[in-house]
Amino acid sequence: MQDAALVQNSILGTSIRTELLEASDEEIRDAIEFADPMVLRGLLYQLTGDESLASIRLESMDGGRKYAVPGIAEASDVELIKAKAVAYLKSYRDAGAGAIEFGVAERLQRSLGFTAGVEMPNEDLEQWREELGLDPWARGLDWQIQPAPSVLEEFEVVVIGAGMGGLNAAVQLKHAGIKYTLFEKDAEVGGTWYENHYPGARLDTESRSYTHLYGAYFGYAARFNEWAENERYFNWVADAFELREDIAFNTEVISLIWDDEASNWVVTTEGPHGRRVSRANAVISAVGILNRPTIPEIVGATDFKGQTWHTARWPEGRDLNGKKVAVIGSACTAYQMVPELALDVEHLYLFQRTPQWQFPVGDYRSQFAPQVTWLDRNFPYYVNFLRFRVCSLTVYALGGTLDIDPDFKDPYSPSLVVKEKRDECIAFLERKFESRPDLLEKMIPAHPPYTARPVVVDEGYGIADALLRDNVTLVTDGIEQMNETGIVSNDGSHYDVDVIVYATGFKPNENLWPMEVRGRDGLRVEELWAKTGPQAYLGAMVPDFPNFFMIFGPNTAGGLPIAASEELITRYALECLERLISDGGKGSIEVTEEAYRSYNEETDRRNEKKVWSDPRATSGYYYLREFGRSARCPYDGTELWQFLRHPNFDELIVKS
Ligand code: FAD
Repeated sequence: MQDAALVQNSILGTSIRTELLEASDEEIRDAIEFADPMVLRGLLYQLTGDESLASIRLESMDGGRKYAVPGIAEASDVELIKAKAVAYLKSYRDAGAGAIEFGVAERLQRSLGFTAGVEMPNEDLEQWREELGLDPWARGLDWQIQPAPSVLEEFEVVVIGAGMGGLNAAVQLKHAGIKYTLFEKDAEVGGTWYENHYPGARLDTESRSYTHLYGAYFGYAARFNEWAENERYFNWVADAFELREDIAFNTEVISLIWDDEASNWVVTTEGPHGRRVSRANAVISAVGILNRPTIPEIVGATDFKGQTWHTARWPEGRDLNGKKVAVIGSACTAYQMVPELALDVEHLYLFQRTPQWQFPVGDYRSQFAPQVTWLDRNFPYYVNFLRFRVCSLTVYALGGTLDIDPDFKDPYSPSLVVKEKRDECIAFLERKFESRPDLLEKMIPAHPPYTARPVVVDEGYGIADALLRDNVTLVTDGIEQMNETGIVSNDGSHYDVDVIVYATGFKPNENLWPMEVRGRDGLRVEELWAKTGPQAYLGAMVPDFPNFFMIFGPNTAGGLPIAASEELITRYALECLERLISDGGKGSIEVTEEAYRSYNEETDRRNEKKVWSDPRATSGYYYLREFGRSARCPYDGTELWQFLRHPNFDELIVKS
């Protein structure tokens, strides 16, 4: 098995950076121009202990703008840091560009604080040490006592889903020596990124926070990777860790029934060999929440004679050049896709019910400049510090700032942070639609920013620019019906089209659906959730469903980057399995009713204070739901890390 640690070591320290050895002073200077000065600041401090880096002044975060990211205040200090970085790299090159020490361990807390722009709290250090990705197995199972091979031989886990979460569960189970089978309904690995190949499909969170720890060195192509890059990453994971031999593809889990007497799960699957039943001591469900497409019911839909498809079922290689196309839906997917389709189609009609806030980013559609990837390969530990900066900013720059401010009175915003973001977004829209006040009016959302998923757009060419094109029409009158040749809107206009694309999203609130999942005494999980909607202890466990763990369960979206969140839940689950295995492997572990109830009460209490619970929120997606509670995670990332670091066995029932 190819060990990720070896892959990483060949870059980190054990081999020589030949590319750097051959670089001229000018090439080094040029590359450093592309570096993040805050990353250089902390990294140089870590590597050299240069105390002058400590006194560099940062931008003030007072006077509002609390969602902003602290940077270096003076341009002259930025130049100073870059000059130090150039000097460092030149002397490292001249010394042979070989293995290099990481620097004094005691310095790390300050170094990371210098990079994040915060005084790093003691209790946060361990989490960020992990996140650096220096130890690819930091979120794996570290056996307290190695179990007897005979016990391990008898213990089997079923993992469901081969996306980011399920693949990691497989990697970690395999590394721990625990037997597993992974069932995947699709023909390949990748989950979301196997299914979503529509033009423009890409990340809206940064690529550097979207790999597992053992993937920290997977060459990043762009700040926001396209689907193909994500798919390439997940294929790398499956290949590097030789997972395919344990994956049953094209095999859907139909039901999971807990057998209390045998203390194991009865797993029914439907696959190439028909319906099969197997048993597992434990189940890790990584079924995701965004892979069951929603298609709205529209009168006359079956009469349409042209072609239709959902964005998650994009026909490979389909060329829409010269076609008239309708896109139904106006969330992230449509705003990503329309600008790309507009470049090809004869005419595009975007049917929009609710506009979304657009958060512009300068380089959203760009690949990295070669200098950026050169730095990744040649500046020792730069990748690690940059990963840390990106991940930690989700906690320190934004994390706690999205609370409703009860003293802040404003017709549109529940807090100053949200108001400032709203003003910034409106200024962007006003610039874009200067010549089209009609579009401006239709593209300003009624809900406050952050109360529905905002859409990241390219500052230079995004949805606004697409709407300004002659071959794109925004339709906001609502759809009355479809007919043989197209769509009729509520004002009676007819739109003649060849193709209708549904950008209508998924069923994110139907956790585990459509699997039949029954716990003790045949209790269906939907029955447990009938009054509250989906809930879980730590987002992962429910009472009366022993030995069952969800990786992207209720109230887990939002607290940490998804890769980190899924790794932490997996490590937690593996530590529960360790307990079962060390007790002989025949028992059960589940959360107490009391712990489940109080965790969810606290989750709801916290969520009520968050801006997405503002009454002006309209989203029924991640945010407000039929049960009057939010599906978001209200906890800060550092708090979550503490919750998930080790199981608290006082809150669990363990039977051997
Ligand atoms: P998934 O990737 O959904 O994988 C679940 C897997 O389980 C799938 O392969 C599915 O086929 C399989 N499965 C489901 N049910 C069964 C069953 N019963 N039997 C067998 N197999 C089953 N998140 C971000 O953090 N940043 C982003 O920028 C971002 N962009 C996104 C863009 C799009 C278009 C979409 C749809 C989602 C995006 N997400 C993003 C969310 C995304 O889902 C997560 O980032 C991540 O992919 C979740 O991984 P997962 O393994 O938990 O779930």
